[in-house]
Amino acid sequence: MKNILYIVIPCYNEEEVLPETAKRIREKMSILILNEKISKNSRIVFVNDGSKDNTWKLICELHKKDSIFSGINLSRNKGHQNALLAGLLTVKDIADMTISMDADLQDDINVIDEMIDKFFMGNDIVYGVRSKRETDTFMKRFTAESFYRITNALGGELIFNHADYRLMSKRALEGLGQYNEVNLFLRGIIPMIGYPSDIVTYERNERFAGKSKYPLKKMLAFAMEGVTSLSTKPIRMITGLGFGIFIISIFMLLYTFIQYFRGLTVIGWSSILISIWAIGGLILLSLGVIGEYVGKIYLETKERPRYIIESFLNDLNL
Ligand code: UDP
Ligand code: MG
Repeated sequence: MKNILYIVIPCYNEEEVLPETAKRIREKMSILILNEKISKNSRIVFVNDGSKDNTWKLICELHKKDSIFSGINLSRNKGHQNALLAGLLTVKDIADMTISMDADLQDDINVIDEMIDKFFMGNDIVYGVRSKRETDTFMKRFTAESFYRITNALGGELIFNHADYRLMSKRALEGLGQYNEVNLFLRGIIPMIGYPSDIVTYERNERFAGKSKYPLKKMLAFAMEGVTSLSTKPIRMITGLGFGIFIISIFMLLYTFIQYFRGLTVIGWSSILISIWAIGGLILLSLGVIGEYVGKIYLETKERPRYIIESFLNDLNL
């Protein structure tokens, strides 16, 4: 039976939460193995993202005591998304399914059962979606929800209120492995892979120890990365703006003619006014046109797979 589960957990300075997280997930795994839902070769993989504290030492100790724990140590801090990707791609050939989650247990581990059930029902990707955001501050909720809306309006395909808590099958991971881009925004890329998918909903808890590794500055950078790595629509907006302003200059021209015939003229006023709008509009328009090409180059350099084949029906020997 194909049921080897790997749980992948990126960790950055998480010494305060790691022992408890390891204990709780270990218990969960034991129950799943006992109920024969997953293979006993399943693992919990901690990815140490260049922590400055004792995180890696703790991971090594866990691995020594209990072989269900595995560890991947990155050479330096590369950020949450890269750490997660490193973990997922490292285990993609050994695992039949992977679940990614944060080290702080904010994501409810009790929905793992439901995720696995949905996997066996034929889904390749099962997204963990937060049902409410009551534990968030107003600020966090507002910024996070606006982020999903704006990114999607700009051409992203984000699953609303889904972060990086998800189950992926082996072939979905292989699909992900074909995206070679460096500017990586996992939760935007994964819906692009395709394959049957489903969601499970859960309530997110507070971080039980330690501090968030995402201060406002990192969060804004993350949101910016999300928009600019997924879409070149902002460039098109410049083109649109340039076009709009150029149209305004034409209206200005008409307006000054009308004023002229009504005898309300100030010498030199019309030419300056029209030039300002016309030149402004043309500059923006040209920038937009250049931008369109830059955007094309940008997408080309990402070398994204143009398609992923799900199945090929073909009888070779007739
Ligand atoms: N993380 C990481 N590298 C970083 C920052 C964060 O691997 O540079 C990990 C962190 O250890 C945690 C997860 O990413 O497992 C999410 O971070 P956090 O819980 O601080 O984010 P929040 O829940 O506050 O958005
Ligand atoms: Mg967290």
